[in-house]
Amino acid sequence: MEALGISPSSLSISFFLLLLLLSSPYPSSCHPSPPTPADFLARAMSPDLVDYVVNIRRKIHQYPELGYQEFATSELIRSELDRLGIRYKHPVAITGVVGYIGSGNAPFVAIRADMDALPIEESVDWEYKSKVPGKMHACGHDGHVAMLLGAAKLLQEQSKELQGTVVLLFQPAEEGGAGAKSMIEEGAMENVEAIFGLHLSTKHPLGTVASRAGPALAANGFFEAVISGKGGHAALPQHSVDPIVAASNVIVSLQHLVSREADPLESQVVTVSKFEGGGAFNVIPDSVTIGGTFRAFSKESFVQLTKRIEEVITRQAGVHRCNATVTFDSEHFYPVTTNHKGLHAHFLKVAEGMLGMDNLLEMKPLMGAEDFSFYSEIIPGFFYHIGMQEKGGEQLPSAHNPYYKMNEDALPFGTAFHAALVTRYILEKQPERHDETLRQPISDKDLPKAHDEL
Ligand SMILES: [Zn+2]
Ligand SMILES: [Zn+2]
Repeated sequence: MEALGISPSSLSISFFLLLLLLSSPYPSSCHPSPPTPADFLARAMSPDLVDYVVNIRRKIHQYPELGYQEFATSELIRSELDRLGIRYKHPVAITGVVGYIGSGNAPFVAIRADMDALPIEESVDWEYKSKVPGKMHACGHDGHVAMLLGAAKLLQEQSKELQGTVVLLFQPAEEGGAGAKSMIEEGAMENVEAIFGLHLSTKHPLGTVASRAGPALAANGFFEAVISGKGGHAALPQHSVDPIVAASNVIVSLQHLVSREADPLESQVVTVSKFEGGGAFNVIPDSVTIGGTFRAFSKESFVQLTKRIEEVITRQAGVHRCNATVTFDSEHFYPVTTNHKGLHAHFLKVAEGMLGMDNLLEMKPLMGAEDFSFYSEIIPGFFYHIGMQEKGGEQLPSAHNPYYKMNEDALPFGTAFHAALVTRYILEKQPERHDETLRQPISDKDLPKAHDEL
């Protein structure tokens, strides 16, 4: 011993450090210093966690469920949370689950996954293909659930060090059902001061993330109009009031809302995607139904479009002696998804630490919509994309396509980002919280026990 210059006490310290290193779930550094974003990625890429996340994704992929019907998916999530010893509330918005990891103190920061599939028949033949005819996870929400559970596992491993609370939101019905809105209405966002959400992307390369500050995804609405005239013999148009010609003119006039009324520097869309009317070559029908979608990047433009779509349809139909009734599914209007500037800066720091600046991409705004916008409308929110496209590989089919394929190699990135973003957020918030009242733990009665089903 002496000859090696190691005293018994320094040996025991070295042994202790070695034990500490071995007991850390993060391979590359010695804790208790908090894990870095790179540590989170290393942990998310460890074989046991990759297997865990991929297996969950494949299980969910085989049994896709549509919005507000995600009963088996919700059950799977709850049984995993039970196994991990994570407290949760259920049901929230029918199938939704809200989990809690950490101290039960502020700050409360949320990470979210959507659970629903699409009414699409899967055309990809592979071992874990959808077993439910006419339904498919073609938007990657199976991967979103799996990554959030992976992050839950990872965060639970270090929950004792969390000086705040991570809120896990598993929400129903993103695909048109405004599940996020229902979650908010049922209290899922209570105490939550910031939220992060992600989407797997076939457009961005594997190993990259993409986002932007400010408006990122458009506000979205749907309309339908019934244009009524008077049917009759197609050879005697003078005895009819032709709704087909009226509807055709309505559709042409609707094109002018974007080309002539909108600010050319502000993106908007009006698309008529439905036209139903007539069934015979020699009959003018009584009525025609048209419908479509409209998108805008500001609340004002969206409200203005709603007003003008109704005016153009009713007045243009009137020019042709027809009546029109216009309906909007305003319950399911999605607001603009706006990324908070401060959270964007936070995201850049985490992403740089995890992947390096070269793998951080600026996302162009998209005319697509996301119900994540309901969360970011009421508290600071941040939404980003996780790239899946293999460099030099065959182009992945885009989402909402029967040939949609997920690159499962992207899953560890989402798992790591979820965990790193909230952990760093909580850490960075500590010095700001001088007010002792904010440090008071929420009493046990306010937080659900494990298995607590509301
Ligand atoms: Zn989708
Ligand atoms: Zn989606």
